[in-house]
Amino acid sequence: MSRDAWLSIDFEDIAHDFRREHGVDPDGPVREDALFAAYEAIETFLRADLAGVRLTFFTTGIVAAKCPGIVAEIAGDGHEIACHYHFHDPCRLDPPDVFDANLARAIDALETASGQRVLGFRAPRFSLTAADVGHFRVLERRLAYDSSLNAAFAAEAEAMRRALGLERLALFPMAREKASRLLPPVKTGGSYLKLLPGSVTIRAMEMAAAAGLRPMVYLHPYEFVADRSFQVAMRDMQGMPRGRRLYWALRQAQWHSVGNRSVMNKLRRIAAAWRLAGPMRGLLES
Ligand SMILES: [Zn+2]
Repeated sequence: MSRDAWLSIDFEDIAHDFRREHGVDPDGPVREDALFAAYEAIETFLRADLAGVRLTFFTTGIVAAKCPGIVAEIAGDGHEIACHYHFHDPCRLDPPDVFDANLARAIDALETASGQRVLGFRAPRFSLTAADVGHFRVLERRLAYDSSLNAAFAAEAEAMRRALGLERLALFPMAREKASRLLPPVKTGGSYLKLLPGSVTIRAMEMAAAAGLRPMVYLHPYEFVADRSFQVAMRDMQGMPRGRRLYWALRQAQWHSVGNRSVMNKLRRIAAAWRLAGPMRGLLES
């Protein structure tokens, strides 16, 4: 097994997604300034600390539609633009025909903004399973690879491939490993990476490679900044009961500040242990 690993960014505007999920001004703007600032933090870090490695940005269609300039810039810097659905919705709840229409809409917006052919998909919140045969049939018709599933072993990924009846679509599942006796299985990225010691993520990556999976790490733009620029303020949650507003203010504080300052350090440690192998579309050639 080589020592290659893949870093990707799920590039969404969590403030827009939050408002949509909670019915608060769901058609409001995308936080363009916050997205640009977070991307600049990511790109500066990649060039200064990670030898300028290029990544895959799984980007929502709504970001490309409302803020095409940021997608053009990311693509222009040599990163891969892949699809993270149109809205940041749990897409398995959409029937396959609705899923198809939303996917087409997202791919169109992403290709128009980036000038790239979109090849890959990752479901928001990894919200597809090996039972979603109709959804994967749609993905196979439109794209070359999917990175929405979770698996602990290569054999599990292969069983999912068979269950889904796939012929051409490549599956790059996210590892979910029992990397600590004290914890349930962890994924290598997001809040797991932010909140747990870096050693847990590195151990989970080792376990993934030993189990025949590709070690992959996923992060979000809001995890590279700690200025709460993606937070929806209490006063903008009008219509929600006060208790809910308070609860979501605290949850958002966790997303937008707790552990964020540790993310770049942990990535430096990961990059010292693994060779970051570039955009995930490169896997299609192997
Ligand atoms: Zn996402």
